[in-house]
Amino acid sequence: VVEIGQPEHSVVTTCAYCGVGCSFKAEMRGDELVRMVPWKDGKANRGHSCVKGRFAWGYATHKDRILKPMIRARITDPWTEVTWDEAFAHVAAEFRRIQGQYGKDAIGGITSSRCTNEETYLVQKLIRAGFGNNNVDTCARVCHSPTGYGLKTAFGTSAGTQDFDSVEETDVVIVIGANPTDGHPVFASRLKKRLRQGARLIVIDPRRTDMVKSPHIQADYHLPLRPGTNVAVVTALAHVIVTEGLVNEKFVREFCDWSEFEDWAAFVADPRHAPEAVEKISGVPAAAIRGAARLFATGGNGAIYYGLGVTEHSQGTTTVMAIANLALATGNLGRPGVGVNPLRGQNNVQGSCDMGSFPHEFPGYRHVSDDATRETFEKLWGVPLSNEPGLRIPNMFDAALDGSFRGLYVQGEDIVQSDPDTHHVTSGLSAMECVVVHDLFLNETANYAHVFLPGSTFLEKDGTFTNAERRINRVRRVMAPKNGLADWEVTQRLAQSLGLAMNYTHPREIMAEIAATTPSFAGVTYERLDELGSVQWPCNEAAPTGTPIMHIGGFARGKGKFVITEYVPTDEKTGPRFPLLLTTGRILSQYNVGAQTRRTANTAWHPEDLLEIHPHDAENRGLKDGDWVRVQSRAGETTLRAHVTDRVAPGVVYTTFHHPETQANVITTDYSDWATNCPEYKVTAVQIAPSNGP
Ligand code: SF4
Repeated sequence: VVEIGQPEHSVVTTCAYCGVGCSFKAEMRGDELVRMVPWKDGKANRGHSCVKGRFAWGYATHKDRILKPMIRARITDPWTEVTWDEAFAHVAAEFRRIQGQYGKDAIGGITSSRCTNEETYLVQKLIRAGFGNNNVDTCARVCHSPTGYGLKTAFGTSAGTQDFDSVEETDVVIVIGANPTDGHPVFASRLKKRLRQGARLIVIDPRRTDMVKSPHIQADYHLPLRPGTNVAVVTALAHVIVTEGLVNEKFVREFCDWSEFEDWAAFVADPRHAPEAVEKISGVPAAAIRGAARLFATGGNGAIYYGLGVTEHSQGTTTVMAIANLALATGNLGRPGVGVNPLRGQNNVQGSCDMGSFPHEFPGYRHVSDDATRETFEKLWGVPLSNEPGLRIPNMFDAALDGSFRGLYVQGEDIVQSDPDTHHVTSGLSAMECVVVHDLFLNETANYAHVFLPGSTFLEKDGTFTNAERRINRVRRVMAPKNGLADWEVTQRLAQSLGLAMNYTHPREIMAEIAATTPSFAGVTYERLDELGSVQWPCNEAAPTGTPIMHIGGFARGKGKFVITEYVPTDEKTGPRFPLLLTTGRILSQYNVGAQTRRTANTAWHPEDLLEIHPHDAENRGLKDGDWVRVQSRAGETTLRAHVTDRVAPGVVYTTFHHPETQANVITTDYSDWATNCPEYKVTAVQIAPSNGP
């Protein structure tokens, strides 16, 4: 029995795990956090929570936290503890030396989707104004960058169209490439409640997730497509809607360009997009595709929710645009109960994108070549800014290997464990002369670092996170930073060491600068957030209390855009040597690479990653449940324990990537989305064989 004791006071703050953005009361006794209680007034969660936000916060006081800055000359040397002043002076000297020797574009940085909007804004400012280039990228590169590109193309904004409340008015739901039960549990509960009230459900997923069938939930249609065939299946749904006269012509005529629609309709009507043809490509029975399309087009308010099973493909952006086409053609936009809704992964991945973490965009998704935007920031920051897009994360490693990129600042992101083709990442990092890791723990990336700057947890700082429904929630300091500095202060001190004028005294001043420079945030202040609880951007003069649902009465870009979405098979092919397709996902109790959740009691629920394999494939290889298996791809190999289950189809295997021992990304390839370089994590051809263990 653990004696918890009575809390003495509480602080309302926001969960730092997934993109649902649940609000919690952190209950304290003195300086000690006693428990996290889901806040009933939190608009994203309304008093609900999952096992991560509620219980998995103990990592904040874990003994593995590094609390003092450290440096070393070579990555094979032991670390030496230094003062903050020494660390900043060392990084500034190294970065300036590298720029003197290799040019100003030889350094860059990666922002963190776990950090606040204010912190992310400061990192991109440090890079643009202090480094003098646009070599800034974010982990959205490896998750939802196709969402940003695809939705901006179709609708004019790089974000989901609805609020979570919208699900309460939906009649038919498509869940594609997402497993909200594990990935977005509190939203999943709201969705399941609506399903129990009678909403209809179509699940498009290679795996039989519990959205397909669980107590009280039974999908009307499950389209268990072969990994890599999303575009073919979604376009086949559009084929049925167009050829069977189910298009919402009134909506299309009013809100889209009719001749553009006609071109698109002629494209999808081609027989090669018919369900019978697509069945051969995707393995999904044509009758199921036809039934699902009819249900979506005629079932009332239709909403589409999707996740990384859509974006992490060589055609990730194409799939996002195909989904947008489907919503446009059926008129399912611009009112409650409908919409295109990306389930964003990390707590602040929406915010890190909003805050200009891309090498081609300033905060508010404005291109670096836009003179007016650049002038705004040049005037405010007092330095000239580059109008050339910088390097994306994978291109930073390419440039490191060709000798032109030599220094990197990585804030709160374990790129060695989370990015694809681990060998490419580690080779690139090994070729650099100054890698600065700013994080909580000595993670896998820190093995390649020359400087380690201790980070602070969400409990130790003030700021804001923006969730998957564009909701800006306050993060409030619960305890003093254990390392002495919140993350925004670390970035500011680093900027000052490089000679940049940065003198904020509180994150509210950073938000004031964001509001002054970014039209969609123009009305955001801490006072307004305190008064309203939260606001959804755009929040400005036209929408002072925010915008729960976008594109009402017209699209941000003017007319909604239909895009031709030709299915192009991935280059990652199965064959005699690699006959199975591996796809990856997450589990409820763990989070991403597990840096935080593995350091909490949640590990008891999921102590290792397993390889799910269909009974037929297991039997053919002489494998039983619990056996060790060697998993080999063209990129590398790893060893996992088998879990024999018919949740996966024959020919498909599946694993999670929460534990570093798994090294799932050693086997993923370097294929990526054509538009954004988002890696193709979801399709890797593999061979598996019995093993004696790692
Ligand atoms: Fe945190 Fe997401 Fe769980 Fe909510 S659903 S408690 S935001 S991990």
